[in-house]
Amino acid sequence: MKKLLNDAAKRGIRYRETLATRKVVPEQASLDALDQLDEAMPEQGESDMATLAMLDELVSPATVAMAGPRFFGFVVGGSSPVTLATNWLSAAWDQNVHMHAAAPGPARLEQVAIDWLVDVLQLPPGTGAGFVTGATVANFTALAAARHRVCEDAGWDVEANGLIGAPEITVIIGDEAHPTLTKSLGLLGFGRNRVVRVPVDDQGRMIAAQLPEIDGPTIICTQVGNVNSGAFDPVGEICDVAKPQGAWVHVDGAFGIWAAASKQLRPLVAGMDKADSWAADAHKWLNVPYDSGVSFVRKPNDLKAAMSITAEYLPVASVRRNPSDFVPELSRRARGVDIWAALRTLGRSGLEGMLDRCCALARRFESGLHDAGFDILNDVVLNQVLVSFGDADVTRRIIDAIQKDGTCWCGVTVWQGQTAMRISVSNWSTSEADVDASLAAMLRIAREVSASNS
Ligand SMILES: *Cc1c(COP(=O)(O)O)cnc(C)c1O
Repeated sequence: MKKLLNDAAKRGIRYRETLATRKVVPEQASLDALDQLDEAMPEQGESDMATLAMLDELVSPATVAMAGPRFFGFVVGGSSPVTLATNWLSAAWDQNVHMHAAAPGPARLEQVAIDWLVDVLQLPPGTGAGFVTGATVANFTALAAARHRVCEDAGWDVEANGLIGAPEITVIIGDEAHPTLTKSLGLLGFGRNRVVRVPVDDQGRMIAAQLPEIDGPTIICTQVGNVNSGAFDPVGEICDVAKPQGAWVHVDGAFGIWAAASKQLRPLVAGMDKADSWAADAHKWLNVPYDSGVSFVRKPNDLKAAMSITAEYLPVASVRRNPSDFVPELSRRARGVDIWAALRTLGRSGLEGMLDRCCALARRFESGLHDAGFDILNDVVLNQVLVSFGDADVTRRIIDAIQKDGTCWCGVTVWQGQTAMRISVSNWSTSEADVDASLAAMLRIAREVSASNS
């Protein structure tokens, strides 16, 4: 066992040591070599050392350096060394954190992590939370609590009776809501399309003045941190209009919610604490390993009502919080451990510093690309930059060449009708030198592609 686990650690460390210097995309030969994985299911088991070696030799080179400093696709962050370390150790514990009695240490630590998150994100004291796989499920979980509350207020037990025959519930979303939010609504029986869409402005922000009249059971889904522009819905303003009418206001804050942890960024989320529920990702900007999202609900009992179960073999009378009362899963890993470790090692100032640094690096991309004559399509208020290199075809070909070059990695998007390259800065290890090297590659490739065009 010792030899095997030491070998795994050694291989993992070697992988991380080469992350900053390797090409971001895998070589074609490494992708071709994946064919060797297509073995028949073995009759007799193979050796564990050889299996680990095969995994490292075949699959490590076929990964994208997503955890590295020059991956700017999506808003994925990259696990920091300490959170990888705590993830390894807690995997060794192999704890099932479904209830306090079965996993007292990790369950206790998760409560600490919740308290710290509520503090650092400036959510209302007493807010409850559950650790889930990511923001998709965090939205789902929080909206299940919303569904419980609005149904109960209308005299309907939705957990027992479902939505068939239930009082009509109006669900309002912004026109730029993340597709996983509408998916969550579909999973909850609200329908992906049976929603009222509120128009957005040129940054993708919901226009509060265009909220429909609120009448009867209503759930409003807002967003902080548009996945393209980084823009924030005016959540405070929406709460001021909707809360007195009895609506539930939810905030999809997958990565944007972290703005609350920075003095400089905090004005972007002004009034967010007036909402009823919030979804956050830790595997994005907090830079912990996948899968790690958090669902927050102002009144923990609303979440508990939607999520808790009883069974004879599961003790319920615990003086301490049973984690599974607040999430869709029963069995799960100790997700809160990595979050706790990230917050403990960063501290309030370290977290703020990381967030501010990512935003400053995004502005560095913005000015480098703008000075080179390219159009920046968004107001760079956070960590997101949208750049157009010309028409859709040229922009796509330049992005394609940037991805193949491997100095850095950025994706393509269409923003309000215009094809653009999307740069997300969310990794703890990205430096000014990484941005400058990436900018140099982008500008060189843009020149080459444009020259070959004319
Ligand atoms: C990333 C993202 C999601 C989905 O999060 P996952 O962790 O991938 O499930 C939802 N909403 C927003 C705004 C996001 O940025």
